[in-house]
Amino acid sequence: MPELPEVETTKTSLKPLLGQRVVNVQVFQPKLRWMIPSDLDKLIGYHLEQTERRAKYLILTFAKDNTPPLKLIVHLGMSGSLQQHPADSKKRKHDHLIFTFDNQNGVLNQLHYHDPRRFGAVLWFDDYAHKLFDHLGKEPLDDSFDAEHLYDLIQRTHSEKKQRPINKPIKAVIMEQQNVVGVGNIYATESLFLAGIHPATPAAAISQAKITELTAHIKTILARAIELGGSTLRDFTVASGQTGYFQQTLHVYGKEGEPCPTCGTTLANEKIAGRASVYCPVCQPFTPS
Ligand SMILES: [Zn+2]
Repeated sequence: MPELPEVETTKTSLKPLLGQRVVNVQVFQPKLRWMIPSDLDKLIGYHLEQTERRAKYLILTFAKDNTPPLKLIVHLGMSGSLQQHPADSKKRKHDHLIFTFDNQNGVLNQLHYHDPRRFGAVLWFDDYAHKLFDHLGKEPLDDSFDAEHLYDLIQRTHSEKKQRPINKPIKAVIMEQQNVVGVGNIYATESLFLAGIHPATPAAAISQAKITELTAHIKTILARAIELGGSTLRDFTVASGQTGYFQQTLHVYGKEGEPCPTCGTTLANEKIAGRASVYCPVCQPFTPS
């Protein structure tokens, strides 16, 4: 599944299309997670002005002279990708949407939205931003997501309702999108290993020092995954056709039964919040206070 790093990589891969004008929009299969809007062709004549990412959503802004910009949200779902091809390339199976761009020098390029499982989405920003973005937590790579923020969030230091500290497993806490976005199972599993925290430890029992370590590892791992082009094991290819190399750097994710890379103990697996959670029983002791 495309994770935050793949979406960030996709965003970067779209740079060559910035400034290029849309000359055609073809929808072959509108039924994704939600229907592709039937009026996407109003983008014709607009150029791609800006690409942004919020959580795992891409936000594409299109501009034309003095008219208000048009903004699209693209979500890659379970198996989606945006792939650039020369104009007149053959439509492949599962290419549901093709934009054709003119680079203003007479060269046409295509952007194919490819999605075998069709859990992704292409939506007008104005119709869905509110619904999709309002409940989201901070971006993990933003400076505002730091150890103090995560610790206060768990301890509910600033809770107006005097709520109790969050006592669910720390792994569930860091994977919940309203707390922090984009920390998928791979990144949660790896950062907990590097911080030496058992994934099932009640969040509120973890010291501020350990939360500081964990926050640092979350940031480092995500940054490294972005640098290496994402982590996804299958289905995902960036525009240039490369797959992610990050998976080769994993310590424990997907390695249940193998020896711990630090101490050699057999790695265990426990289901937490419905997700496989591989950990080292020695390096990640379960020691809630
Ligand atoms: Zn170990």
